[in-house]
Amino acid sequence: DGSLEETLDIDNDRTSKDEQDTSDLRLLARQDYLSRREIQKIESLRKDLLLLEEDVKKYGWEALSQREREDIALKRELIELFERKNYDLEDGFKLQDDYIDEKGKIDVARKRQALNNRNDYFQKPKVSKQQVWEERQLQKAIKEEGTDEIVVADSDKYEFVFDNDAAVEFTQEDEDDILPEKDAEYESLLAEKLEMEENRVKSIQEMRKLLPVYQYRDDLLRSIRENQILIVVGETGSGKTTQLPQYLVEDGYTKAGKLQIAVTQPRRVAATSVAARVADEMNVILGNEVGYSIRFDDKTNDKTILKYMTDGMLLQEVLVDPELKKYSCIMIDEAHERTLATDILLGLLKDILVHRKDLKLLVSSATMNAAKFSHFFNGCPIFNVPGRRFPVDIHYTLQPEANYLQAAISTIFQIHTSQPLPGDILVFLTGQEEIESAREKIEEIAGKVGSSIAPMILAPIYANLPQEQQELIFLKTPSNSRKIVLATNIAETSLTIDGIKFVIDPGYVKENSFVPSTGMTQLVTVPCSRASVDQRAGRAGRVGPGKCYRLFTKWSYYNELELMPKPEILRTNLSSAVLLLLSLGISDLINFSMLDKPSMSSLTSSLEDLYLLGALNSKGKITKLGRIMCEFPCEPQFAKVIHTSATHDQCKGILEECVDTVAMLHETASLFAAQKEQSSDFLGEVTSDHMLYLQIYQEWRDYNYSRAWCRDHKLQYKTLCRVRNIRNQLWKCAEKLGLVAMNEIARREQTDTAAKLPIKLTKCFIAGFPTNIAQLGTTGYRTVGKKSTSGLNVYVHPSSILNKQLRDSARKPSKYVLYQTLMLTSKEFMRDCIPIYDNAWLVEMIPQLFKRKR
Ligand code: ADP
Ligand code: MG
Repeated sequence: DGSLEETLDIDNDRTSKDEQDTSDLRLLARQDYLSRREIQKIESLRKDLLLLEEDVKKYGWEALSQREREDIALKRELIELFERKNYDLEDGFKLQDDYIDEKGKIDVARKRQALNNRNDYFQKPKVSKQQVWEERQLQKAIKEEGTDEIVVADSDKYEFVFDNDAAVEFTQEDEDDILPEKDAEYESLLAEKLEMEENRVKSIQEMRKLLPVYQYRDDLLRSIRENQILIVVGETGSGKTTQLPQYLVEDGYTKAGKLQIAVTQPRRVAATSVAARVADEMNVILGNEVGYSIRFDDKTNDKTILKYMTDGMLLQEVLVDPELKKYSCIMIDEAHERTLATDILLGLLKDILVHRKDLKLLVSSATMNAAKFSHFFNGCPIFNVPGRRFPVDIHYTLQPEANYLQAAISTIFQIHTSQPLPGDILVFLTGQEEIESAREKIEEIAGKVGSSIAPMILAPIYANLPQEQQELIFLKTPSNSRKIVLATNIAETSLTIDGIKFVIDPGYVKENSFVPSTGMTQLVTVPCSRASVDQRAGRAGRVGPGKCYRLFTKWSYYNELELMPKPEILRTNLSSAVLLLLSLGISDLINFSMLDKPSMSSLTSSLEDLYLLGALNSKGKITKLGRIMCEFPCEPQFAKVIHTSATHDQCKGILEECVDTVAMLHETASLFAAQKEQSSDFLGEVTSDHMLYLQIYQEWRDYNYSRAWCRDHKLQYKTLCRVRNIRNQLWKCAEKLGLVAMNEIARREQTDTAAKLPIKLTKCFIAGFPTNIAQLGTTGYRTVGKKSTSGLNVYVHPSSILNKQLRDSARKPSKYVLYQTLMLTSKEFMRDCIPIYDNAWLVEMIPQLFKRKR
């Protein structure tokens, strides 16, 4: 009989490498998360052990040497550690889901419940690592030799160590929320919370009655009963958005839950934030009676009667339900913003209302534009809610400011150090990047000045800000400090923040701008209109007399600013709107009733775009592909990318990768917590921004969508969760349309998917964005786009991976580049780029634009 050592295949000479492996594994066991590779390692360890144990059963334990026993014990122990760990981690997060409420807040009662349900888990005495170690040593010392069973005697004590670790993990984000241990303490805490909550609800109800619209409640409801369409005009903050819909519910328009009321908002943040507020006022859970629906995020259910939504979402609903049958009232809020979707909705509703006499339409607007709306709806009445507004002093600069951000920051400190408290400051900036950089600078200065000035509370608000941070702007400012709200245009009319006494207005806004001569829509920073800056100034006069500091000259106000903002329909690419109208069967675009008609050139240009994408045929009729594009909850260009990746002969088989990439591209603005290069260094060399995004997503998925992984790589966990959600919705849609099945067939036939991926991905994006291409010439990159248009000099954005490669002089820049967006700041920048190395890809994917060279 062969020696047992051979049979068991245990290496008696434990090498230093083994030692190393063991200690590596031990370290792993203490890490917060495990990668797939590491989990595989453990899996193989487990298999080893299974085999060993089978042998032990066969030959008996007695036959083993001390060393062999130790080895098995070690393997068992390690596996045990990992198992506990995975289990705890998973369970820890699940546990958290149990008590985090709809707003992402911790529900104390539910947390208690959740913890109680895990009695065994938490009521065991807690043991420090030190104690465990000592105990373990002790156990080892007294362990008898020759027992017929291996017991890692202290293995269950080990659980506590990791229990502790896991516990720390999920309370980390709100460390001050640790529950008191004793019941009495807990009860009194609960009672206190309950009282606070009661007071809050009471004061909310009282506040409702103080709002200007409250006095007009009955008049308003009568007007609505008497008219099918009503324009409601009122000062910002008078209660139109939050109160009117509630009055409608109270007046029975939802027919005891059978019908719904829709309220549209031009902005996502406004829709979610107002819905949360109204749910609070009505004392219901957000997502039940009151909900919201924005793209990729639907928080409504079959109980929902009041739905706040973006105007774009209601537009999508018209596609499915052309008569909007489930609604009894529709309120188009903030109509003066004149977004593309609002304008198109108003055009469609004008028609729908003729067929649905029972449907009520409220159009609410700030004072500008009201007459125009009334005129559009055949002279329907305008209901005016007189607002309160205290006088606001306007200050101008004497000279134009070269650097308005700098000027804004010094104005903040001037006000803060010279004006008495209370009195919060609202600063209008153009976007996330500007707001974040202002915040950093202010923090830096405040840090230097230290406690010689009163505390400042910085509260940013912009579209991509995570929801739990949005609430910060509404929190009451403590009496010894000053809140500084750094906001985009969103605070102009959509959101009302109480307590603002000072407004700082550089007078700029970032908006889409369509340039027919280049055929492109760009995001540009432009001076606001007079109507806008007047609105902004008004924000200072809600609680009392206020001051507004304009960082431009009085001369400029009277001579340079436009009177009114330009409606979006006159300055953006109309492709998706045109496609939507065509799919609704509205083919006479020229005569479609609209507040402002888009120019012929922009209509033609979007028809041309749609034709290039294959959404229209040469007669201008919508194609089957065009209808498929409408089904996707994303821009038609992205839909084309996705469609191509599953169907095109040269590309098919990479649907999953394309869907991941497209989803990532929707959220790149708030993905990185640090500089993009820093955050993504761990990936090593990537060929394009798109591949970078894809790899980040895949890697995150491979690490089990781990939160800790995001923290380690300086990526925003919440953003990636949103990406995951978008990705799943796009995937579901692709599945419904049969693309997933087609892709599967292609995939099965292929063997070299990974190697061909970058090229295929590039080709798919060429198919989707045929006009977003720049060519390298003697002066750098220049857009090629459509035949009819002239080119534009453009530059790779500093944040792009391509930029890094361009600096590497050893490498030749690619002849062509595909970009996702053009941004005009100091230069025309291309954001999110893919290099196109081979001319033939263009010829192959878009032969209409690129001919093979003879
Ligand atoms: P309008 O639509 O006429 O501009 P709103 O209905 O938006 O007015 O606002 C009415 C009041 O409700 C304002 O005083 C505002 O401060 C308050 N409010 C709105 N949203 C919130 C919120 N999320 N938190 C606290 N107060 C809010
Ligand atoms: Mg409003």
